[in-house]
Amino acid sequence: MHCPRTNASLEPLLIGGITVYTSAQGGVFFDNSQIFKFSSPELKHGQVLLKHLSEHSESEYDVSLRINCPQCKSIVMMRRYFSPLKVVEIDECPGCAGIWLDSGELAKIHENHLTPRERKLLAHEMATNHGFITIKPPKSKYYPKAPKNVQGTTVERLVQLALLNFE
Ligand SMILES: [Zn+2]
Repeated sequence: MHCPRTNASLEPLLIGGITVYTSAQGGVFFDNSQIFKFSSPELKHGQVLLKHLSEHSESEYDVSLRINCPQCKSIVMMRRYFSPLKVVEIDECPGCAGIWLDSGELAKIHENHLTPRERKLLAHEMATNHGFITIKPPKSKYYPKAPKNVQGTTVERLVQLALLNFE
């Protein structure tokens, strides 16, 4: 497999029995659903991968450019938000459901991770307050200012939050 940004070879990396594919710029490709084994800061796999990626140099390419799936090659990946907090945009393949993260994106996902307790709290708030509560976005070194759309949350987003199940 090749890096969708630079076309250099991706290096397979085995972590806890799961193979992911990393680029020299700190990018990483996950096969179908395997990102969820790495997306929480509480998961050992996630900590190991983050440490590995952080040892690479930062990316210098334009991450807003659309890319093709490293696995399917002819399929253009879709940009979408990883979680309902809408802080981290990722690339997902509509063909194989593989996910590409650019340099620094796994760190952002970890910083914005909701714990099971936080999710439960959101579900509870939603049930008792008719779906209208305010979410304070977590502080992040990547986004010192809160993105505009995190405040004043909608019912739709809270329903998504309550239904999240990343275990
Ligand atoms: Zn694919």
